[in-house]
Amino acid sequence: MAIEFSAAVSRIPVYPAAEAYALPEDVALLASNESPEPPLEPVIAAVAAILTGVNRYPDPTNAKLRGALSDRYGVPASRIAIGNGSCDILLAAGEALLEPGAELVYAWPAFSVYPHLAAATGATDIQVPLNDAQEHDLDAMAAEITAATRLVIVCNPNNPTSTAIPLDDIAAFLRKVPKHVCVILDEAYCEYNTLDDPDASIDLLAKHPNLVLLRTFSKVYGLCGLRVGYALCGSDVFVTAVNQVRQPFFCNAAAQAAAVESLKHGDAVAQRVERSIVARIEIEDGLGELGIRAAASQANFAWFDLPTPEGREPAEFEAEIVAGLSARGILVRAGTALGRVGALRVTYGTPQQNQRFLAGLGELLG
Ligand SMILES: *Cc1c(COP(=O)(O)O)cnc(C)c1O
Repeated sequence: MAIEFSAAVSRIPVYPAAEAYALPEDVALLASNESPEPPLEPVIAAVAAILTGVNRYPDPTNAKLRGALSDRYGVPASRIAIGNGSCDILLAAGEALLEPGAELVYAWPAFSVYPHLAAATGATDIQVPLNDAQEHDLDAMAAEITAATRLVIVCNPNNPTSTAIPLDDIAAFLRKVPKHVCVILDEAYCEYNTLDDPDASIDLLAKHPNLVLLRTFSKVYGLCGLRVGYALCGSDVFVTAVNQVRQPFFCNAAAQAAAVESLKHGDAVAQRVERSIVARIEIEDGLGELGIRAAASQANFAWFDLPTPEGREPAEFEAEIVAGLSARGILVRAGTALGRVGALRVTYGTPQQNQRFLAGLGELLG
């Protein structure tokens, strides 16, 4: 007899892992929105230094990291949650807020982890389609909030579509959301957003105790392999609740040390953002030369519909292009798995990788 699992296991979607981690050295990994740059040298040194002490459990209160984040952002440490990646905080929020009968509202396509929350808890998922510009339709989302709504997630800039909405629109949306409904603003890519200062959303916390700004060291800081994320919250009750539903040691010692050190190197991080914005222009121009108009990216990746030829199935054509790029050593993400048939998501790489991608796509499109 096979093991009998809970109903949640049959509901939870399996995360679409990027293929083929065993590929040769020179593969261009443009599938997971990672930084193409290695961690900063002093960050690597800080991690190495902590390793001699890992016979001890890590600090379960993450005191140094929360203190450093509090200094950096002006949010009291009691209102800062830490996680084993920001996904850990997201999943804990699902567990702490949702249950059968409760509703969760988010846009779609958005981050592939969001459907996990309702599936794991038995809550009801309300997916609100993006508008034609592939942006959140905040009015339509506000209209979906009912007495049963416990959580609303807004992803800004949005993964996988790369688009962002102005902070003023988000502020207006927040004014419409009842105060007992938690709003998570997933800002995994906020550092790359040129529409608004990444620090500007922090001002909203003072007015909205139900607001949570979810951020990560995975993207611009280049630490996704260590797993550390954080949430800046409008009130400390969110922090208490997500800590309650998790194991005590949810952030390892190396990740904590790396994050603390990273916060000391704002200039290096700003230079990374500049390089990423140069890549954005290169990729958008290169796609333009192939007759492709990408969504207006405010992130470290491009999102676009492939020019599916007349008479071809978009899904089939998309698979063919992804396979063709893969054969050329370039890994990207197929749109179908992310919620839009016939689309591609391509992370900005090094200048060389970006040129390789553009040349490969050009060949495949003839
Ligand atoms: C990458 C990403 C995250 C970060 O996940 P971590 O668990 O911090 O690595 C969160 N939200 C979105 C939308 C992302 O794309």
